[in-house]
Amino acid sequence: MMENVIIVGSGPAGMTAGIYLARAGLSPLVLEGMESGGQLMTTNHVDNFPGFGTVTGPEIIKSIRSQAERLGVRFQMDEVTNLERKGEAIELAGMIGNYSARAVLVATGASIEKTGLPGEAQYWGRGVSGCLTCDAAFYKGKRVVVVGTGPAAQAAKNYLEKVGDIVVGVVAPAEAGSFSGDGAKLTKVGEIETDGAFIVTRRIPQTKFLKGVELDDAGTIVTHERVFTSVPGVFAAGDCAQPKFRQAIIAAGDGAYAALAIAAYLK
Ligand SMILES: Cc1cc2nc3c(=O)[nH]c(=O)nc-3n(C[C@H](O)[C@H](O)[C@H](O)COP(=O)(O)OP(=O)(O)OC[C@H]3O[C@@H](n4cnc5c(N)ncnc54)[C@H](O)[C@@H]3O)c2cc1C
Repeated sequence: MMENVIIVGSGPAGMTAGIYLARAGLSPLVLEGMESGGQLMTTNHVDNFPGFGTVTGPEIIKSIRSQAERLGVRFQMDEVTNLERKGEAIELAGMIGNYSARAVLVATGASIEKTGLPGEAQYWGRGVSGCLTCDAAFYKGKRVVVVGTGPAAQAAKNYLEKVGDIVVGVVAPAEAGSFSGDGAKLTKVGEIETDGAFIVTRRIPQTKFLKGVELDDAGTIVTHERVFTSVPGVFAAGDCAQPKFRQAIIAAGDGAYAALAIAAYLK
């Protein structure tokens, strides 16, 4: 069956687009991917998403998702492994099924390259963060460690010191050893006592499955007029297409813009 529109990704960009497309009567299908709800699911503190005050990431996602479901957005758990245009249709292959649509929105985000060190997964969102803009303010006056190398790590150190965080070390991932704590919160990077750790490595846009869509050297989707890709019928929104300011509200705004562009395209 040919869908009107498939959205790949269930973060703020994908779900906001879903809300707009459902309201336009286009009955969108969201393919959720392995990280249902996206990156915000990994953080306990968000205080810059308008209308929510200070909340956890999952609280914001739950609220957006229930609004989307109430409006009729359909969600399917599947990870897309191939996407290409064939004739008038965009064909998608997933781990579970195959799909075809008149238009597709790619909203697959950009994941931080994890260090893979022991304890990183356990303390992710509990002291270990990949997002300076999002989380630095929570550590004002507290001790933090930058885990990274080169100019990016130095820039992160400067940024944190301006915010008012006390940087107790810049450690290369290869020398950090492990992340440890009391079970609920990070307390050490290697032997360094700390309240927080910022991972400053590459961000990897989740775009490997796209065939024929122009990407830049870092794998970010190249867009024109904000959400149009090089392939007609394939649109992009959120962190996978936004190399500069990766924030939830910006992703949601891109999602809304893309939905309106898709509705116009399908007419
Ligand atoms: C620790 C942390 C804290 C943060 N804190 C804040 C904050 O306080 N304020 C703020 O504004 N922003 C914050 N951010 C940034 C914010 O989370 C992102 O900017 C936002 O989530 C981007 O939304 P998105 O919809 O573009 O992508 P994402 O949220 O990354 O969602 C991507 C979606 O795509 C899916 N996907 C990926 N590949 C595939 C595939 N092949 N097939 C199907 N689905 C796929 C994933 O499963 C996921 O559902 C934080 C990020 C992190 C990591």
